[in-house]
Amino acid sequence: MVNGTDVFVIGGGPAGLAAAIAARRRGFQVIVADGNKPPIDKPCGEGLMPDSIAALQELGVEIAADEGYPLQGIKFLEKEKSAAACFPTGRGVGLRRPILHKKMLDCAVALGVHFLWETPVMGIGRDGVNLAGGNFVHAIWIIGADGGQSRVRRWAGLRCCALVRIRGNLLGRECTSVCYAGVGERSVRGDSISKRKSRHPACT
Ligand SMILES: Cc1cc2nc3c(=O)[nH]c(=O)nc-3n(C[C@H](O)[C@H](O)[C@H](O)COP(=O)(O)OP(=O)(O)OC[C@H]3O[C@@H](n4cnc5c(N)ncnc54)[C@H](O)[C@@H]3O)c2cc1C
Repeated sequence: MVNGTDVFVIGGGPAGLAAAIAARRRGFQVIVADGNKPPIDKPCGEGLMPDSIAALQELGVEIAADEGYPLQGIKFLEKEKSAAACFPTGRGVGLRRPILHKKMLDCAVALGVHFLWETPVMGIGRDGVNLAGGNFVHAIWIIGADGGQSRVRRWAGLRCCALVRIRGNLLGRECTSVCYAGVGERSVRGDSISKRKSRHPACT
């Protein structure tokens, strides 16, 4: 069991894998823990928009045109109402979720990200994370990527409509600014948290 890392990512879904790949590409040691194990399937996250394809490319994850179903736009349907539009640029892809997960996972593994599968995280502290079974892993940065019902968000004391803005460069360890609905703004620098009472413009 590794007992320390630069970045500890909680959740190995698309968001967690993307964060892990990005951090690893910048030279950080990265551990990802997930309560589940691959192949992780979900009946969602299968429509990749053009900006998702571009973001994946930036991470080094290529989705070839013939790997899924090309999407030219989006159509919303509700009873007799509908609204449709084509993407102004680029293409989207409809791709089975396990294929996306495997591609991202292969990339992360090749880069040297360390994975702890079937390992639920039970809590976070100032210096790291508590794993099921009682192990503690020290971490400089903790990334909560544990889905829509995030417990990490609750553990961190953030409200449900939290908007996370990265000011400066988190991966360069400068400063993160977290703004959450109507409460104010916290600047996180390395191991210190300061609170400012201002409301972020994006929250108004
Ligand atoms: C019906 C439906 C359709 C959707 N369609 C689309 C779509 O077409 N395109 C799209 O982009 N999005 C779609 N979404 C949204 C989609 O779910 C998200 O884009 C995507 O799943 C978010 O990925 P994520 O990594 O943030 O979270 P998740 O995929 O939920 O991954 C979270 C991971 O964290 C793990 N985890 C949770 N808690 C812990 C813990 N305490 N310790 C360790 N591991 C933990 C879980 O096991 C899981 O693997 C849809 C959602 C729904 C409900």
